[in-house]
Amino acid sequence: MTKPVYKRILLKLSGEALLGKEDYGIDPVILSRIAGEIADVVNAGTEVAVVIGGGNIFRGAGLAESGIDRVTGDHMGMLATVLNALALQDSLESVNIDARVMSAVSIHDVCEDYIRRRAMRHLQKGRVVICAAGTGNPFFTTDTAAALRAIEIGADILLKATKVDGVYTADPKIEKDADRYDSLSYDEVIEGKLRVMDTNAIVLCRDQDMPIRVFNVFEEGNLQRLVNGHPVGSIVH
Ligand code: UDP
Repeated sequence: MTKPVYKRILLKLSGEALLGKEDYGIDPVILSRIAGEIADVVNAGTEVAVVIGGGNIFRGAGLAESGIDRVTGDHMGMLATVLNALALQDSLESVNIDARVMSAVSIHDVCEDYIRRRAMRHLQKGRVVICAAGTGNPFFTTDTAAALRAIEIGADILLKATKVDGVYTADPKIEKDADRYDSLSYDEVIEGKLRVMDTNAIVLCRDQDMPIRVFNVFEEGNLQRLVNGHPVGSIVH
């Protein structure tokens, strides 16, 4: 078996990644597929932390447009990420992978608080840590939470799971001749306004030298290929 090149990864999964064929909520088929891919990586010896989004349920900015106070909307968005995290935890446990949801807002009857040292201990024991509730603060995103957690826990790389196979010069769905980058710098992302992750997340990764690999999570086996050192998708570094 190929030896993984990363000891510890942080996987950013957007809520959208869980939608599958649904318009809202979680597609159980996609959920178990993603859990299976994470399980393969864990079983091969890589420590995995996940930051999960909530866009398949609620986004604060969207709720604000419909008249809900933005901070309340962001609280709802953060709680939506907890729902996704619990579903992923359950799905991982069903394939015999120990997992712990750790939330940035306290919900003690449901999951643990995110405490860095405790998270690191879980990882060392081979448990998947699912970071929920983003940063715990309104006006942030789970992309920023992913950058923050990746840096805090000393991940080797942040893997940003998307629907496309990397970073393009323009939206490949609109511009057919858009080119895909194999590699690009943080500043190229910021200056080109390329929609990789939000700017806060890119700046944080740039300042702390956290590489980001953007890849298509819907292509089966990609996560494992990446962890085995194959240059799947685009790298921002
Ligand atoms: N959110 C927040 N603070 C954070 C992270 C998330 O307030 O640190 C809220 C925000 O309303 C956001 C929602 O949670 O829209 C869901 O997160 P996000 O939009 O990042 O999810 P994704 O797009 O990855 O599914």
